[in-house]
Amino acid sequence: MPRKRPEKPITYIDWRRRVLERDLFTCQACGKNHHQIELNAHHVKPSYKFSEIRLDVSNGITLCKDCHKEKHRKGWKNGAQQNDTTRVLGRY
Ligand SMILES: [Zn+2]
Ligand SMILES: [Zn+2]
Repeated sequence: MPRKRPEKPITYIDWRRRVLERDLFTCQACGKNHHQIELNAHHVKPSYKFSEIRLDVSNGITLCKDCHKEKHRKGWKNGAQQNDTTRVLGRY
């Protein structure tokens, strides 16, 4: 079923901005804001597994670069996505 949304498809840049705006430019893990630290938009569910929700704002969360790094480091403990390190931190 197609969802009723008049919006045209958004780009990754749009997605990132919308996530940050929704979270008021504040890290959802430690509470720092964009004046204090660089912020990233992180995918709650990994976008490489769920490409259809890659640009879904509800699947995004604002994290500062430190918390973001931490988040991914934990996720990689099982070693499954080691090769994605650079790509994931670079874009997501
Ligand atoms: Zn943080
Ligand atoms: Zn991320």
